[in-house]
Amino acid sequence: EWEKRVRQSCLPRREDNPLVVLVTGAAGFVGSHVSLALRKRGDGVVGLDNFNSYYEVSLKRARQELLAKHSVFVIDGDINDKFIIESILEAVPITHVMHLAAQAGVRYAMQNPQSYIHSNIAGLVNIFEVCKAANPQPAIVWASSSSVYGLNTKVPFSEADRTDQPASLYAATKKAGEGIAHTYNHIYGLSITGLRFFTVYGPWGRPDMAYFSFTRDILKGNPISVYSGAGGKDLARDFTFIDDIVKGCVASLDTAEKSTGSGGKKTGPAMLRVFNLGNTSPVTVPTLVDILEKHLNTKAKRQIIKMPRNGDVPFTHANISSAQAQLGYRPTTNLDTGLKKFVKWYLSYYGDNTNRRLWVGNHEKII
Ligand code: NAD
Repeated sequence: EWEKRVRQSCLPRREDNPLVVLVTGAAGFVGSHVSLALRKRGDGVVGLDNFNSYYEVSLKRARQELLAKHSVFVIDGDINDKFIIESILEAVPITHVMHLAAQAGVRYAMQNPQSYIHSNIAGLVNIFEVCKAANPQPAIVWASSSSVYGLNTKVPFSEADRTDQPASLYAATKKAGEGIAHTYNHIYGLSITGLRFFTVYGPWGRPDMAYFSFTRDILKGNPISVYSGAGGKDLARDFTFIDDIVKGCVASLDTAEKSTGSGGKKTGPAMLRVFNLGNTSPVTVPTLVDILEKHLNTKAKRQIIKMPRNGDVPFTHANISSAQAQLGYRPTTNLDTGLKKFVKWYLSYYGDNTNRRLWVGNHEKII
């Protein structure tokens, strides 16, 4: 039964070189959007997610339901489980792995540092190990992060800039992942593309991120804490709309060359790439709140805290010329338009500030 569902999910619906993609973290924010975009285009897609409770599991289940409606099957499983991943690769001819499963967030590392090691390092190695041993080896596109630039002060950030000063354990594990990717490419001929996403936002987003939690608190009339960076300067982020990120991910899959090894043996040099996927126009956090106030038609109760928080970098700003040249990546959604779409989704999903939709299996309950 399990294999049957995987095969159906991976059955391509177009004839011109369809991809067959394993998407890890498919019930996550970015993973659900990428899975949907690939399936709508006619590619075969199977998802894997462990549905952990880092943020509300009902939202992950709701994304899974949405994917199921578009005939994408998301398996409950952990990226550290070699057996599951090997079984998927045996059941269907996976051509690409879009590896998005990770422990995200900067602050949670203070409570649970091991979860970052488990998912972002051990899990990444497990994905590479299974792909290494496969014959043929799939090409891998995986999510690194703009956080690797850490306390770098040279803006905009270019791929060749220094990444030796991570500001958080999260950033350190993403930076370590880039080193691990390099070794698997170099020794085993795996084709690997690392994408450094810059603060992705949009419908079906992540409740732990500021734009999302601010929206919730503004609607509930709760105060919101707006932190500054060092010297009381406003924090700024290169907020990037999910649809733009999805286009960058799909273009990365489309342009990835085949791996040059099989069964752990390399036959030649394989592709190794790293791209910034950002928006190239950073916006300060107070301006983010202004835009949310406009779309929510509600004033925020701002608590301005003039001090930096551990793990935060003062600003992010992507130079995307490399992604532009090699992937044809061109972000088209500004923060105002993107947040308008997010707020529209938020209100339809959660209702007003009192109603919340809860998904239980196939049933949706308003609570
Ligand atoms: P997300 O938390 O919504 O998605 C990650 C998904 O992976 C979750 O559904 C989670 O349940 C799953 N997962 C975590 N550990 C797992 C494991 N061990 N096994 C199986 N599944 C597991 O996060 P997202 O925002 O969609 O991020 C996707 C990727 O992009 C992550 O690698 C993240 O680090 C990276 N990234 C995101 C942003 C952003 O702004 N959203 C920025 C930079 C990088």
